[in-house]
Amino acid sequence: YNLIPENIEVVERIGEGAVGTVHRVKYLPTSKTMARKSVAVYPDDKNHRQLVRELAFLKQCKSKYIVSFYGAYYQDDDNDGPSIYMCMEYCQGGSLDAIYKRLKSMNAQIGERVLGKIAEAVLNGLVYLHQSSIIHRDVKPSNILVTGKGRVKLCDFGVSGELVDSIAQTFVGTSYYMAPERIQGKGYAVQSDVWSLGLTLIEIAQNRFPFPPAGHPEMTVIELLDYIVNVPIPTLNEDSGRWSPECVKFVNLCMIKDPNQRPTPKQLLCHEFIKKSEERKLDLKKWIKSVWSDPRGTTTTTSK
Ligand code: ADP
Ligand code: MG
Repeated sequence: YNLIPENIEVVERIGEGAVGTVHRVKYLPTSKTMARKSVAVYPDDKNHRQLVRELAFLKQCKSKYIVSFYGAYYQDDDNDGPSIYMCMEYCQGGSLDAIYKRLKSMNAQIGERVLGKIAEAVLNGLVYLHQSSIIHRDVKPSNILVTGKGRVKLCDFGVSGELVDSIAQTFVGTSYYMAPERIQGKGYAVQSDVWSLGLTLIEIAQNRFPFPPAGHPEMTVIELLDYIVNVPIPTLNEDSGRWSPECVKFVNLCMIKDPNQRPTPKQLLCHEFIKKSEERKLDLKKWIKSVWSDPRGTTTTTSK
């Protein structure tokens, strides 16, 4: 792809993140639909070219469990100011956070079989990245996307040190999906992504971020992070009858606080819950279609 501003036509705004806006765009030479994410950068920064070059590395990440990256370009637009624009595969089914909010508005819940397929895809994506020495660092519902064909894919992993730094300058924030060892500044390993996966599964299973627990008084950011580090881990509600023992055990393994006791994605791929899911034929294409076509649902914008 020849990704230059002249070749891109903005179609619609899809979402808003901490660092920029995501648009659906059309690549004019072939009319291909893409998702384009903007990251505002400082003007006249000599690093822009370096940054765009670093991002080119992402094009080598080719896996059916990873959102394809098409390329990036720099533009100093009169309205938006200097930005790096990253173009990637457009996923029509949306992100898991939009999907579970939609289900919630329908008074519906995700089932264990769909949850299994999601866990399967995320683990395969993580194993792929880890084989390329990439730790995702930002596993959460909004970074797990579903295509129109019902394929589940990971996006937004931290590869570019430069870009992470330039984002860090503009974005002072903490993610509630960080593993305890990260909150405590003890470093980061492949198991840290597994914690974030566990939290993500609980959130989409219960249509609600699990911290603080329901009925608990409001918390400040610091209190919440302290809570995540020190208070017994959340689990799926076993008594609801919604979850099989394997499923509950799987999630509990993800939520082990000590990273050295927590399994790696590779180990979890051999877990009974995943083996069971792999054996089962399940068409997520029908599922994602039904999620977005059900008349009971209301569509809220994806911005938080
Ligand atoms: P965050 O992940 O924190 O929500 P982002 O800027 O990464 O912030 O994304 C904003 C929203 O845009 C996401 O929540 C998601 O719903 C949507 N989005 C991001 N990338 C894509 C994509 N490739 N295809 C479809 N939707 C996307
Ligand atoms: Mg994201």
